Amino acid sequence: MMPALAIQYLEDGPHLAQLSPEGAAEKLRSAFARLPIDRVLIGWNLRPDVLEACAVECARAGAALYRWHPLLTGDALQPPPPDWQTIALSGSPIAGFQRMPEFTFVCPNHPAAAEAVLRRLEGALENGPYQGVFLDRIRYPSPASDPVASFGCFCANCQRAAAEEGLNLNAVAEEVAAALRSATGVRRVIHTFFRPATDPSVDSTLAALLDFRERTITRFVAQAVEVARKHGMAVGLDTFSPTLCRMVGQNLRTLDPLADWVKIMSYGHTFGPAGLPFELLGLADWLVGHHNFREEDALALLAEATGLPLPRHRDTLRRAGLSSTALQREAERAREAGVRVLLAGIELVEIAGVAELDEAQIRADLAAFEAAGVDGLALSWDLWVMPLERLELVRI
Ligand SMILES: [Zn+2]
Repeated sequence: MMPALAIQYLEDGPHLAQLSPEGAAEKLRSAFARLPIDRVLIGWNLRPDVLEACAVECARAGAALYRWHPLLTGDALQPPPPDWQTIALSGSPIAGFQRMPEFTFVCPNHPAAAEAVLRRLEGALENGPYQGVFLDRIRYPSPASDPVASFGCFCANCQRAAAEEGLNLNAVAEEVAAALRSATGVRRVIHTFFRPATDPSVDSTLAALLDFRERTITRFVAQAVEVARKHGMAVGLDTFSPTLCRMVGQNLRTLDPLADWVKIMSYGHTFGPAGLPFELLGLADWLVGHHNFREEDALALLAEATGLPLPRHRDTLRRAGLSSTALQREAERAREAGVRVLLAGIELVEIAGVAELDEAQIRADLAAFEAAGVDGLALSWDLWVMPLERLELVRI
């Protein structure tokens, strides 16, 4: 079987207003000329003429067109209403990354929010020229920047849903909040985010909550997949890198059977949501800033809890990101979790301050994914900001 080769294209942003159908098709054509791309994962807020031009280009190249769809967040057209949003330990709604609507999460246990999310998906698939859907933001907000302000959800609907499964969410919230006030508690919380519920180092109350969140996300994704299948769509899932999955409510073992393939966002050099250095540095900064950890101790704790090789200093992690050895380990973990058709997401964009890559590192990361035996690659996360010569480094 030929390796799968997906590419993400045209994330939402102000630049789309000026984008012509010809311009959008031209860039795609340049990518097809360089690589045997077999699926294009295209953004969710395109003008019909731009989308149509891309659909024509994909048909000509024999590539499947997937709608790249942020599921549990708002978007520029529909910011999530405050009472649908996920609720933190503090009782406040969890703010989205940079307050962007496409990074502001709604609660999957909120009946009106859940219904609106599924209706929006249905509307998009009914009217679009797609053969598949690529479900992104199938998770809770990441707690990494500050577990007090960003870990959820503790809303009334989640309390009800948890009670039905025998979990008292108010009691859990009090215990977790108390744990987050002591250094010993914080250590256990960090271990619990990354380690299986059976590990002796975890906090069993928090582990029960993480299990409940995983069941909630899997159940909701199953409903979304049902909508997609009704419309004859192939389904791909966009998940966090395996080590970070549990922290955001994703269980690869239960999500995988719902989809045709899974892409893991094992971005080793990205300083944005889901990027491994971004998420791990969020926790390291929080440990240093809120709990007076020494920098080396914070990183040692994270290395121990994740089982990943991490540098001793935050600055090194920020500058160099994760090693290709760590990325290979991440792909292997996805396999161990039962992912059948595994696409490694690799960042190839050049965005100042977010992803600044070099050729040797890209080659090393590609070799690491190959060594892990992945089924293909997802070139991320947006061809629009990808230097075309980088595509030439990809040999599969
Ligand atoms: Zn909730």
